[in-house]
Amino acid sequence: MHSDRFEELAALRALGIPLGADEDEFAQHLEGCATCQALVADFTDSAAALSATATPVAPPASLKTRILGSLESGAVSPRASGGGDLSSRVKTAEAGATPQRSFAPWVFAAAAGLLLLLLVTDDARLRREREDLRSQTAAFRAQAGEGEDLRKQAAALQQEKANLSEKLRAAQRSLARRDLQARVVESDDVQLLFLQGKAPQQRARGRVFWSTRAGRGVVVAGNLSVLPAGKQYELWAFSGGKPVPAGVFDADTAGRVLFESKDLSRIGTPEKFAVTVEPRGGVEAPTGPIVLAGS
Ligand SMILES: [Zn+2]
Repeated sequence: MHSDRFEELAALRALGIPLGADEDEFAQHLEGCATCQALVADFTDSAAALSATATPVAPPASLKTRILGSLESGAVSPRASGGGDLSSRVKTAEAGATPQRSFAPWVFAAAAGLLLLLLVTDDARLRREREDLRSQTAAFRAQAGEGEDLRKQAAALQQEKANLSEKLRAAQRSLARRDLQARVVESDDVQLLFLQGKAPQQRARGRVFWSTRAGRGVVVAGNLSVLPAGKQYELWAFSGGKPVPAGVFDADTAGRVLFESKDLSRIGTPEKFAVTVEPRGGVEAPTGPIVLAGS
């Protein structure tokens, strides 16, 4: 498997530095690793272009030792003829002694090796950073996915809540209906009045269950239009020829209505009923068109 260590070995190989004990392992790895093959090729190409413009950073001590060690052993010291080990050569240079002709090539090789090393370590660092970024991106994507799941769950819960609210409202309507039946529809003095639709709602139909003792009527109607938001249906009970406001109501989305009138006990038994379209909240005297009427 490819690793930073092989990248270091690739750099050494590009410099022509013997890999010693790692030689066989690297050769075997290089055969099957496109990354290292590309690195060796790149490093070989760029070795000549290496210059002092490279940003100086501290290379790993191990590789430095290795390069210097290989130089010291004479592996890369073309035309080395000065004799003596590396430290004595360096001492010679430091002492300001006239450098020998063979000095330049290995100094270049060492410098090139170190600069190449800087590039290798820098490249390896960039590679690691890229890898980190890639895994961070993957983690972020995973989190985003979880976020999406949570949003879906929240939406499902919201929907469930809406369904339960609708069931509750339905139960409340059902209770209210039974309550109305108990108080009005099932009173022994209940009277039934039919309401006819008027144009443009001639298909609308309604019935008023009226109980004088309860002083109220219950309107059951169907085929009513759903009105604009600012409008409402208003029930009128006629007494002495005059319309008395008896409450406002809305039709459900299917055009149905179950509505209990206001307390009208003060007017006795109404002569007739009508329903008009009025501003939401109702008015004291009818202004809109009659949609249902009957007696
Ligand atoms: Zn490799």
